[in-house]
This record gives sequence, C-alpha cells and structure tokens, in this order.
Amino acid sequence: MSAFDVDLFVIGGGSGGVRAARVAASYGAKVMLAEEYRLGGTCVIRGCVPKKLMVYASRFPDEFADAAGYGWSVPQASFDWTTLIANKDREIARLEGLYRATLENAGVVIAKVRAVIEDAHTVRLATGERVRARFILVAVGAYPTLEPRIPGGEHGITSNEVFDLARQPERILVVGGGYIAVEFAGIFAGLGSAVTLLHRGDKLLRGFDDDVRVALAEAYAKRGVTLALQRTLSGLERRPDGALDAVLSDGETLIVDQVLVATGRRPNTAGLGLDKAGLAVDEVGAIPVDGYSRTLTPSVYAVGDVTNRANLTPIAIREGHAFADTVFGGKPTMVDHELIPTAVFSTPEIGVIGHTEAAARALCGEIDVYKAQFRALKATLSGRDERVLMKVIVEKATDKVVGVHIMGPSAGEMIQLVGIAVMMGATKADFDRTVAVHPTAAEELVTMRVPVPQTA
Ligand code: FAD
Repeated sequence: MSAFDVDLFVIGGGSGGVRAARVAASYGAKVMLAEEYRLGGTCVIRGCVPKKLMVYASRFPDEFADAAGYGWSVPQASFDWTTLIANKDREIARLEGLYRATLENAGVVIAKVRAVIEDAHTVRLATGERVRARFILVAVGAYPTLEPRIPGGEHGITSNEVFDLARQPERILVVGGGYIAVEFAGIFAGLGSAVTLLHRGDKLLRGFDDDVRVALAEAYAKRGVTLALQRTLSGLERRPDGALDAVLSDGETLIVDQVLVATGRRPNTAGLGLDKAGLAVDEVGAIPVDGYSRTLTPSVYAVGDVTNRANLTPIAIREGHAFADTVFGGKPTMVDHELIPTAVFSTPEIGVIGHTEAAARALCGEIDVYKAQFRALKATLSGRDERVLMKVIVEKATDKVVGVHIMGPSAGEMIQLVGIAVMMGATKADFDRTVAVHPTAAEELVTMRVPVPQTA
C-alpha cells in the first residue's frame, strides 16, 4: 500500500491549479484540490473575465455616439448597473460550474475549504482532515493590497470588491498606474462616472513603451478622465452623507463616492505553512522556483501568481500544464517567460509584444523604429477624434521584429495574431512581403516603409 493518500494535492483552484490538477489526473494521477473561495480563481471570479464584460459594457456609449455620423439617430441611452452586475454574476456562476465539472469529470476530488501545508508531504484542511501527498502544488495566487497604509485607508476598496458594488459610483478615485487601475478608470469613465486616476509616477503603465504611455494619457484626458500624476493619497475620511473626502499629497481634497485602490498585489503565502516544508518566501512573499516550477523542497512545486513570474492567466495555465507534463507525464517542460503577448483593456485598447523602444535600444544595439499614428477609417464619418498608434521595432543587424506596440480598437486581438509572427522570429522583410488586408487598421503593420529618423 502507498504511504500517500494522493499522488498530487493542489492548493488553489484558480487558473494554474485547475489546469495542473486536470492534466495530472489525465496521466492517471490520483489528485485532490482545495479551494477556499470559488473555483476558477481570480481570473474567472474577480479578474480577467468579469473585467472584460465590464469593458464591453463601458464601450457602448462610443457606439451610440459614433452612429450619428453614419445616419443613425439613437434615442437617449440609459444604463442600469444592477442589470450589468446581475448578468455578470450569472455568467461567472456558469463558468464556475464548468470548472467544477471539468475537475470532477477528470476524477479530481475537490475540497471546498482552505488548506495549509503541514510538512513536505502533508496538507491539512480547514476541516482538520490531513492528506498525505506524494507531491504538493501550491497555486494559491495573489491578493490585492490596500497599500500604502494611510489614515482611513479601510474606506477604500480593491478589485475584489469593485465587481460587486451595489451602486455605480457617480464619482470615483482610482489609485494606481498599472493595468488594473487603468482598465477600471476606463470602465467607469465609459459608464459615465466622473473618474480621477491618481498615480505617483509621471506616466501611466510603467514598463510599457513611452509612446504608448503618452498616447494613452492623452486619450484618457480627452475622454474626460482627470489624471492626477506625481501625487499620492494621504488619507480618506467618510462624510456624513456617505461620500468620501480623499486627501491628496499636495493638500487637494476630492469628494468621491468610491476609492478603488489598485496599487499592487501580493502572493497569498501568509499562514500557508511553507516554513514547515522547509521553504522561505522572497521579499514580496513569492515562492522561488526553478524553470520547472520546482521549489527547494523536491515534493513541493508552485505555479502562477504565487511565484510572481509573469502574473497573467495564460502563464499560470501554462505553468500548471508544464508541471503536470513534467511530474506525471514524463515530459519535462519549461515555460518561456521571455516573449509574452499581452493586452491592456483600456479604451482605447493596448496590445504589446516584445521590447519597448527603450529596452530594444539597450539590448539590441542599433534598431529601426517604424511608427504610424492615424485616424481609423471608422472615425472619419463618426468624427471621433482619437488616433490609432502602431509601432514596430526592428533589430538592424538581423532585421528581426523585436517589438510591436498597438493602441487602438481591437489591439488585443491584433497582438495575439502578430504575436505568432514575432514568436517565429519574423523579420521586417517578412512583414513587408505580407499583403495588406484593405481597408483595415492592421494593414498599417505591413505597410510601414520608412523608419522614424533617429536623433543622435
Ligand atoms: P488564482 O487564479 O488567483 O487562483 C488561486 C486560488 O487559490 C484562488 O481561487 C484562491 O481562493 C485559492 N486559495 C488561496 N489560498 C488558498 C488556500 N490556502 N487553500 C485553498 N485555496 C486557496 N490576467 C490576464 O491574463 N488577462 C487579464 O485581462 C487579467 N485581468 C485581471 C484583472 C484583475 C482585476 C485581476 C485582479 C487580475 C487579472 N489578471 C489578468 C491576472 C490573473 O487573474 C492571474 O494572473 C491568474 O488568475 C493567476 O492564476 P493563479 O492560478 O496563479 O491564481
């Protein structure tokens, strides 16, 4: 008889954990998974999916406004927050059910409770039950922080709460300059809330190409988002009418209905018992792992946001799959974290793969930068005053395209496809010999002939 109850115990039923459990089970492993909240994890329950549904909701006013130039008269539109949230909740519950069914069909035993580690081979459930496992996979994700701590900070909400607000805030302060802050600022602005986006830096979206960062700030300002840059939040105070006084570092006070703090996320490792398996976390609380997601303790692996490598759903899924292939499928597999296509679902949307111009200059030696900024065809009749930005960065020595940056409608869809070419090592000559699809916005990617003149 085996000394173990299961071959694999997965802690966390999110993107990474569910994939790992299912694939390990398909290889014949006996698998158990614990989830303390809802199956599907951050992405499905309170991340990517509900967010994208809200992004869709926020973009209808653009369509209504643009229709006039095309001859349509649209009656005064009105928006009902309660309907959106109820419909979103129904869809999320449906997806949660699919996740459960996928696991059950694969033969994975689900425990709907918190689990912690007791030693390198033992997991203890909140019910008190102990499970001995040949391998433990930590896939507990991360949580949003209300940081930095400020007086009255508890009046702020995080992305966890924003999806379930009983009422749409008429005035909202969004704190942060990363993609989550930027996306929610866009959502609420589109839905008609008065939005202030407060960020301590001088530009939004650190790590993105500077042209994109500048163009997004301009687009947001035009769309009525008030940008409060190079300032921070000093304190929050509840007013008698229920609104909040938000005091900024320069002394300005904003009166708002909600303050959404989206300044960062931290791995869910507190109280997890990692030390009992001989493991330490790094300075942000993440679990260090090697290319195979293996920790320093041979029976314990970790995937997804808890490892703080690239905190995106498709990466967590790949890491979970690669773990199962490696440990149970006899196919040692590493995940490439180098070239990751990604999108920011701001309005206008952003799609990116590869190096920024600054990074390419530092890493690739001489480069050519091709840039187009233009009004989309649709905007001609609608009169919408917003420009599409496209940038292709080419390493001169090899002619390889090392970065593509797009801001404009469907940028996320475009970057997924152009990402295949970049991943395959496409050269600028490959882009040039690809026939344009006309009339589209994407054709600009293959019709840019003259690089931007370089200033010394
Ligand atoms: P998670 O999906 O967070 O799953 C971890 C699970 O473990 C959770 O369900 C949690 O309840 C459970 N858990 C934690 N501790 C325990 C315990 N001790 N016992 C039992 N269960 C436990 N990524 C994208 O790629 N595209 C996007 O557009 C995108 N948008 C996002 C928007 C928002 C607002 C947020 C917050 C995130 C977004 N992300 C997006 C990131 C994405 O959600 C994460 O990268 C992904 O969910 C990570 O998967 P994971 O498996 O590591 O963790």
